[in-house]
Amino acid sequence: MTENGDAIPLVRLEAVNKHFGDLHVLRDIDLTVDRGEVLVVIGPSGGGKSTLCRTINRLETIDSGTIYFEGRPLPAEGAALARLRSEVGMVFQSFNLFAHKTILENVTLGPTKVLRKPRQEAEKRAMELLERVGIASQAQKYPAQLSGGQQQRTAIARALAMNPKMILFDEPTSALDPEMVQEVLDVMIGLARDGMTMVVVTHEMGFARRAAHRVVFMADGQIVEQNTPDEFFTNARTDRAKDFLSKIL
Ligand code: ADP
Ligand code: MG
Repeated sequence: MTENGDAIPLVRLEAVNKHFGDLHVLRDIDLTVDRGEVLVVIGPSGGGKSTLCRTINRLETIDSGTIYFEGRPLPAEGAALARLRSEVGMVFQSFNLFAHKTILENVTLGPTKVLRKPRQEAEKRAMELLERVGIASQAQKYPAQLSGGQQQRTAIARALAMNPKMILFDEPTSALDPEMVQEVLDVMIGLARDGMTMVVVTHEMGFARRAAHRVVFMADGQIVEQNTPDEFFTNARTDRAKDFLSKIL
């Protein structure tokens, strides 16, 4: 291990279990995410993919096991939990932008309120990020005035504005009209190339092939198999994964 801890995975889940009532949604999950790694999580609906994402920034608690972030168990509350949430960005299927705030305000809100950055500095950075995702010219508009693809790119800029150590994407393109999917994926591919640590739940196999370092196939609350995209897509080992792939490819 190096002195700055580079050998410690950014995230490590160890024997994680989670129930919703009688439903066992995460079953003995062991998983690591390294710094700079792009992990694509795929699998049938109801398999626990969203729950897995939500446990990593503690939007969901777990029943047993441990989740480590930078080698330390996730904090349960207080300032440490707030810091974790700012360090682990999340982009949802439904964008979740503030409807009554402009695009620029949506991106500056976290930095000014949570990170207590001066407004001017936050706005300068926000404009750089909006530029990066290709919507700087929309900064003064409201979310409803933008297309779905533009709203999702705003959500990505908003996540980036917190300078996160990783970003979780939960089906970021599933709610988009087909013609807008690629513009969002292109932004994500750019982030991946720049070395952002990403966990991406998606059915976009083109993205997985181009950007993923590792594909994790999840079903019934378990990691059924994981492999490089090349191996997984050409040589899935389990019937469960083969069956899933035959339905979506
Ligand atoms: P996926 O994202 O792979 O579709 P989820 O993690 O959303 O799967 O859900 C896994 C299972 O947990 C599903 O059966 C779902 O209905 C159930 N579930 C998810 N969230 C809750 C909740 N808050 N309360 C009860 N059941 C839930
Ligand atoms: Mg889901």
